[in-house]
Amino acid sequence: MNIQMVDLAGQYQRLRREIDAAIGEVMQSCRFIRGPLVDDFDQALARYLGAPFVHGVGNGTDALQVAYMALDIGPGSEIITPAFTFIATAEAAALLGATVVFADIDPQTFNLDPACLEPLITSATKAIVPVHLYGQSADMDPIMEVAGRHGIPVIEDNAQSIGATYRGRRTGTFGDAATLSFFPSKNLGAFGDGGAVVTCHAALYERVTMITNHGGRHKYYNEVVGINSRLDALQAAILRVKLRHLDAFNQARREAAARYDTLLADVAEIAVPIERSYGTHVYHQYTVRAKARDALAAHLRTNGIPCGIYYPVPLSRQPVFRERGARQGPLPATEQATQEVLSLPMHTELTLSQQQHVAVTIRGFYAGRTTAAPRKAENVAASHV
Ligand SMILES: *Cc1c(COP(=O)(O)O)cnc(C)c1O
Repeated sequence: MNIQMVDLAGQYQRLRREIDAAIGEVMQSCRFIRGPLVDDFDQALARYLGAPFVHGVGNGTDALQVAYMALDIGPGSEIITPAFTFIATAEAAALLGATVVFADIDPQTFNLDPACLEPLITSATKAIVPVHLYGQSADMDPIMEVAGRHGIPVIEDNAQSIGATYRGRRTGTFGDAATLSFFPSKNLGAFGDGGAVVTCHAALYERVTMITNHGGRHKYYNEVVGINSRLDALQAAILRVKLRHLDAFNQARREAAARYDTLLADVAEIAVPIERSYGTHVYHQYTVRAKARDALAAHLRTNGIPCGIYYPVPLSRQPVFRERGARQGPLPATEQATQEVLSLPMHTELTLSQQQHVAVTIRGFYAGRTTAAPRKAENVAASHV
């Protein structure tokens, strides 16, 4: 049985007519940089999220960098972010010369634990950066409460959770700014790189547009140091089509997650994801905690089932941050998560029979271990044939 971690080809086949027409339109117009299609996508995405301002950029890492630049984060600044996230969240701040301060996560959601924030705040703290990991919102009310009390801006890294909600509102509309990635495997994926900055502040939006346009409002008049980072018109046209399907994509992921939950419910060695009642999870990843995680991952791969470990090393242990004087609070939940998490195939085209095959293979692994344990060594090897 052919099972993929993400089935981009299957989804394209389903949407091919719409997507090809949108690409054809861009080719006819030959307007490849910004232009009306990109503006149209920015506005459609703003309406979808319920946010006043969206500005498309080159990718999700640029979106973080630009949001940090717009808030003047640089040497002498500190940002607080979870140690359990993709490198880009912290890397973009380090690139600007800021110090990264790592906080621990809530073991249920894998998201920033609001209780860890306060002791890490100093007079240099310039931003709190929660990450909505795997498709589920961080617990935003207590995060916004602490940030508000200290007057610290919040930037939500929403690369993995577009369309998720928290208390009835979309993620990415709580902080001063939020960032998105349209990397092909994300829930709203382009056919290449793409990203966006979301904000509710007109002044911040203006700074973001300026920074991404070489620091100028008008061509050849440069006010601040900026960069070149633009959402490509071809990608915007493709994303405009896919945005219409995003709720259906996320619903398909939720249904697949519910099927996994049922199929794995009585496997004692697996803890399925927890969806907190404060919002809807959009399952960018279906990430379980697994006993003997590395051996299970090897067993799945040997049996032709792809799986992923996001993330095997806390960012606080990455040499790049150790060299840069990063600080950290205690990180027991982060350390444990890096040992236990395993993401199973999850995408919009996943079928029940594929998921049954994944579940049977997982059961087979643990059954083999319990029965193999009392046997003699020579029989253990044979039992795996
Ligand atoms: C994917 C991702 C990014 C970076 O996005 P790119 O478009 O690949 O630059 C940043 N943060 C998180 C949490 C991500 O998952």
